[in-house]
Amino acid sequence: MAIDDANDNAGVPGECPEHEWKVHGIYLRGTGASMSVECKWCGAIQYEPSLSDGT
Ligand SMILES: [Zn+2]
Repeated sequence: MAIDDANDNAGVPGECPEHEWKVHGIYLRGTGASMSVECKWCGAIQYEPSLSDGT
């Protein structure tokens, strides 16, 4: 997982060849913590499942 941007092909929203997610927010819930991530290129937001999903 490279954190430095060797290839800076930032550009067209929604046309990422591959989304690159960065942490957008972390939400504490009764069952654990959920996290949302945002694509640094196009701004798409995706919600990650609970970080501590017991079952
Ligand atoms: Zn994207």
